Amino acid sequence: MNCRRSPQLLALALSLSLGATACGGESSTATSSSGDRPQVVVTFPVLAAVVRQIVDDKAEVTTLMPNGADPHEWTPSAKDIQKVFDADLVIQNGLGLEVKLTDPLAEAKKKGVAVFTVAEHVTVRKTAEDAGHAHHDDAEASHTHSAEASHEHEGEASHAHHHGAEDPHLWMDPLTMKQWVASLAPVLASAGVTTDKVAATEADLEALNNEVTKILGSVPPARRKIVTGHESLGYFADRYTFEMIGAVIPSVTSQAETSAGELAELTKKIKEAGVPALFVEVGTPAATAQAIARDSGAKVVELPTHALPGDGSYRTFMLQLANTVAGALK
Ligand SMILES: [Zn+2]
Repeated sequence: MNCRRSPQLLALALSLSLGATACGGESSTATSSSGDRPQVVVTFPVLAAVVRQIVDDKAEVTTLMPNGADPHEWTPSAKDIQKVFDADLVIQNGLGLEVKLTDPLAEAKKKGVAVFTVAEHVTVRKTAEDAGHAHHDDAEASHTHSAEASHEHEGEASHAHHHGAEDPHLWMDPLTMKQWVASLAPVLASAGVTTDKVAATEADLEALNNEVTKILGSVPPARRKIVTGHESLGYFADRYTFEMIGAVIPSVTSQAETSAGELAELTKKIKEAGVPALFVEVGTPAATAQAIARDSGAKVVELPTHALPGDGSYRTFMLQLANTVAGALK
């Protein structure tokens, strides 16, 4: 905007109380965010950390979900939706994490906004609906579950309730995160973002996986058993060979329901498996977790599975997670 406004325009601006449009440093919030660099909007903070690493300073990266909020219950604001429409590229997780952004995203796409869905470029983990409470436990199957619920076989999904839930928590494994990096590069290029950090980011994610593996190596095989607030550590457990014993909310979203019977069964499983820790995270009902811990003898340990640490880095996110898990189980 030109600072030399006509007197009429200035009067109009003042009459509309647009004091902030005066020429000066802090007046430029609206214009600076739509400045000369391409605008990349990422829905989820943990993904945004890796996107920032890839684009370096070649784009302005904005995150929609507040860090620390529960992404499973996130609803975009009108402002968020405006950011999506103003973006050169929108990057989302997919698999239901941004379910309330589906319609605005479709609209934005029609208007020419590029959209990259991370989950379309990784090996998606699927779980049986019963996996949270009927997994690997033949002994208990007889009285709490039908036999077939405990004996999932690929290709034998003859029962309607055995639809696999697709697990959105793909950020819990650095090698799954590495899978989408190369696919993003041409999409970035089309959005006007030229970056030379793709290979370096991939190498970094691989090195991170090695570090995480090393940290978790301190947990003996018999103690590699995990209980969480909801089923958030599937990719992590698959990668680093942990067994998911169960979850307070037996679902890949924190927004699902649980029952007294399921909680009693979880308590029993924790005792039987001798799991020393119950990892609580965003969206875990605190009183329920405390009750399970009291009745099972496990200690409650906070695990930030959905939020970035203070330095905003994915590396620190994964290392802290690995150290917390190792410290609580070994
Ligand atoms: Zn989650």
